[in-house]
Amino acid sequence: MKYVTEFRDPKAAKSLLAAIAQTADKIGVTRAKPLHIMEICGGHTHAIFRYGLDKLVHEGVEFIHGPGCPVCVLPMSRIDECVEIARQPGVIFTTFGDAMRVPGHKQSLLQAKAAGADIRMVYSPLDALELARRNPDREVVFFGLGFETTTPSTALSIQAAAREGLTNFSIFCNHITVPEPIKALLDDPDMVLDGFIGPGHVSMVIGTHPYDFIARDYHKPIVVAGFEPLDLLQSVLMVLTQIAERRAEVENQYARVVPEHGNPVSLAAIDDVYEKRPSFEWRGLGEIDASGLRIRPKYAAFDSEEKFCIGYAAGPRHFEEPEGCACGAVMTGRIKPTACPQFGRGCTPEMPLGALMVSSEGACAAYWQYGGARAAAE
Ligand code: SF4
Repeated sequence: MKYVTEFRDPKAAKSLLAAIAQTADKIGVTRAKPLHIMEICGGHTHAIFRYGLDKLVHEGVEFIHGPGCPVCVLPMSRIDECVEIARQPGVIFTTFGDAMRVPGHKQSLLQAKAAGADIRMVYSPLDALELARRNPDREVVFFGLGFETTTPSTALSIQAAAREGLTNFSIFCNHITVPEPIKALLDDPDMVLDGFIGPGHVSMVIGTHPYDFIARDYHKPIVVAGFEPLDLLQSVLMVLTQIAERRAEVENQYARVVPEHGNPVSLAAIDDVYEKRPSFEWRGLGEIDASGLRIRPKYAAFDSEEKFCIGYAAGPRHFEEPEGCACGAVMTGRIKPTACPQFGRGCTPEMPLGALMVSSEGACAAYWQYGGARAAAE
């Protein structure tokens, strides 16, 4: 297939692997003294395991799986609030499918649906908007979730609802941003990170400059990468080359998709509809300053938190994660998924305890899908 097979060519992969090995040897990394490269995006985590890249690269290169799966980093309290909204009389609660099975403290959205709440899966916030048009006597809520990749679509749906004067449509906003958690990880004295593989889809919207601080202030290389095996191998080589040459820069391996300055139309829509929250709670990472977005007061009529007086509108809320759940340690790279005592025992894709096992982008789900089930059995 044109434009895919080119990025999966075994010959090219072999020569990139050889170059990675040569550069790693030059730097002097070994299994005992590895380089820690964090792939921020959950899509990259899955590609790494799907193609076995973690086994193919030099033994001194260790991938640390970052917090770039929006479903995985959502605290349980936000799922509880979704269920609370969905159970209100007259509400049609709409969501992307991958959020349905994320456990809340009492129920997931799927369980709440089975118990009678009107919860519907949609493919886009525009589907939810259409539901609102067709059901003027019902309140339609969309579960706005995700990084900068999905934020423009909810922003555009709010702008459309405002233009049309809809009064029965709102977004439960859980949009988060990538640069702030990276900064929080870099500020954590327990984290050892030597370089980053930057998220491709997020960067398509925000461009590459929001990562400048990583190179400038923390002297770490970051390479924005695509999602095919050759994209990732080339990006690893670019990170290693920077380290070998004692450089720390933001480089763009995914230039065929990511413009340096991002997408101006998307950025304008985000800026019109959203503003930064003072802080937002991340599963496993805690509260991180300015890492979440909220709907601007001029669009308050489309803000579910305001409409239902829930979430941050009702004051700060915090609940502990379930006992034995090591999602935070996995998400910060302190342990691998298989080291979690619940992996394959109290937590499987069929019966997930933590969100990292639910989402198709979660690190635990990736381990399970591409060999982790075997590891757990062993
Ligand atoms: S195995 Fe389950 S509980 Fe353990 S870290 Fe992964 S998702 Fe969390």
